[in-house]
Amino acid sequence: MTAPMPKTIKVGMLRYTIKPTPKLKTLAREVESNDFVAEHAKEPGVFHEDESIPLLGLTDPDGGVLLIESANASYDVQRTVTLHEVIHACLDQVGIRDTIDANDEESVAKRLAPLLLQTLNDNPRLVEYLLNRRVLGKGSVL
Ligand SMILES: [Zn+2]
Repeated sequence: MTAPMPKTIKVGMLRYTIKPTPKLKTLAREVESNDFVAEHAKEPGVFHEDESIPLLGLTDPDGGVLLIESANASYDVQRTVTLHEVIHACLDQVGIRDTIDANDEESVAKRLAPLLLQTLNDNPRLVEYLLNRRVLGKGSVL
């Protein structure tokens, strides 16, 4: 059984809506009226001219939205992308986005998300300890 993607999350003082978005890369290309997507799609590391590299997620701290590719990504990829976008949201909250290059931020999120998710998955007792909650089986937290 798979846990559903949450509809909202809280990161620091901000509440984000998580929007599963089919064909996010196409949206980024075609929707000129969506200033956020159009603007971020041009950032290095976010949008790739290479058609073979998918755009799987975007974080909009000002709009309080995380966009997660839902049509061209497996459940496991969506979970990693969601954590990747949460890392971006956290970096925004701590103000580091103002001090580091966008490529460096992307590199941190890209490298950290899969390792952090794997570490949490491999260590349910660590999750229990960190959250001070009992974990019921793999991935379920009370
Ligand atoms: Zn990113």
